[in-house]
Amino acid sequence: MKLFLPGPMTLLLSLLISMVLLRSDTLRAVQASGVRAPAVSHGVARWKAPRVADATQTPPVHHIQAGGTTAPPGVAAPSSQTDPFAPVYLVTSRDTWQGIRGLARDAVARRDSTGTPLVISETRADRLGEISRYVHVSERRCGGYFAFPSRAQAEAFVSADRAKQAMTKSLAAGYTLDNQATVSRWLPQVQEQRLYDTINHLSSYRNRYFASSHGKTSAEWIRAHWQSLAAGRDDVTTELFTACTNCSTQPSVILTIQGRDLPDDVVVLGAHLDSINGSNPYDPNQHAPGADDDASGIATLTETLRIALADGWQPRRTVKFMGYAAEEVGLRGSNAIAQSFRASGVNVVSVLQVDMTNYKSGAVTDMKLISDYSSTELKNFFISLFDTYLAPMGLTRSSVACGYACSDHASWTNAGYPAAMMFEAGGPNGSFPYIHTPQDTLATMGESAQHSVKFTQFALAYLGETAKTRGKVTGGPAQVLPVQ
Ligand SMILES: [Zn+2]
Repeated sequence: MKLFLPGPMTLLLSLLISMVLLRSDTLRAVQASGVRAPAVSHGVARWKAPRVADATQTPPVHHIQAGGTTAPPGVAAPSSQTDPFAPVYLVTSRDTWQGIRGLARDAVARRDSTGTPLVISETRADRLGEISRYVHVSERRCGGYFAFPSRAQAEAFVSADRAKQAMTKSLAAGYTLDNQATVSRWLPQVQEQRLYDTINHLSSYRNRYFASSHGKTSAEWIRAHWQSLAAGRDDVTTELFTACTNCSTQPSVILTIQGRDLPDDVVVLGAHLDSINGSNPYDPNQHAPGADDDASGIATLTETLRIALADGWQPRRTVKFMGYAAEEVGLRGSNAIAQSFRASGVNVVSVLQVDMTNYKSGAVTDMKLISDYSSTELKNFFISLFDTYLAPMGLTRSSVACGYACSDHASWTNAGYPAAMMFEAGGPNGSFPYIHTPQDTLATMGESAQHSVKFTQFALAYLGETAKTRGKVTGGPAQVLPVQ
């Protein structure tokens, strides 16, 4: 990796270049003086990115910028939800960094626990949409980065990475398939109309953008709707998770069904509840219906929950349904939850992520198992679930890699928990053409939620076989041991 091992002269040169760039950055000068940047500053030239500094060289260049406005370690920068010019610190793959280097600066190379080359860089809040668009257009995937309000937090995130443990750890007892009685009863109960109605409601908001009022009210609707499905159940609770420092006013939503036999084992099913318009990402009034991305995932969870509760089902393990805030701006809600669970020692035994479940066009397989940044053991279990419960119905599967930080399962993987994701079929070229546009609607999915039906069946199989049914079976995932 010679490119990333610059000698002393190169480092000195980088330092000088970066100081010159800092002085010529009129935007930052405006910020530093405390004067609000005029609207014309939106047209400011893109940052010229210095080359990536080596991971082994400390301190990184940005720490010695004289007069810089970078927040000191541990101090949150101005709020990225209210100030479009606030710095945001990104953790991306090295490949993604190469593509966005015109939009970010002060990059330093790092590696996660699996040895994957990462880059921490600084961008601006109002550039996140353009970065997301690059990832979508050029890398043909979603997500692509974790975002933090300070460099210190980004550094701490990478330092504490536990992806290796999450991806390779073998659970002592493994996952078992022995709850057909429950799962087989559930599968025929999925109602396409209910999935349609949930997607239709969520995509009727102007947007579900994390920093807009709609982003908050739509999350509150999800909580109220989930709570209504649990009427009469004193073992089910809902909450708004707000302990996220960079999620603006958007809460994540968590519904918990208390486990009866193994309450300290936690099974998670998650989808993100926010949406974004990639062409107009900083406008709180942007039009971002997000029907497939990811109202379809929330609808999948909602219908799964409805069927399990309507059945009077009581799980052996504790189950948490989660609607994550602010996924589209760097997996913020899920990362806040995963980190908080890790900090308090919650024993999450498995995580299912559903992000986009309702688009299929052409002769492609019905589902794609995401192959990277996931637990090997859980992926194998997903394959067993599919082959046992869905393949007999004529459904087909394949797998695909989605790259670093492509959706919320990556937050759990980073925190050391076994997570995996099942992704929609997409079109012949593998993608959904209307992602992050005003055309992400039910109309462009044939005014139907039929493809989400399959994912709901998969989620029901996952739920029944990981959380199990109270008092009936004894198998299932073992305890995830604490990190050494
Ligand atoms: Zn998404």
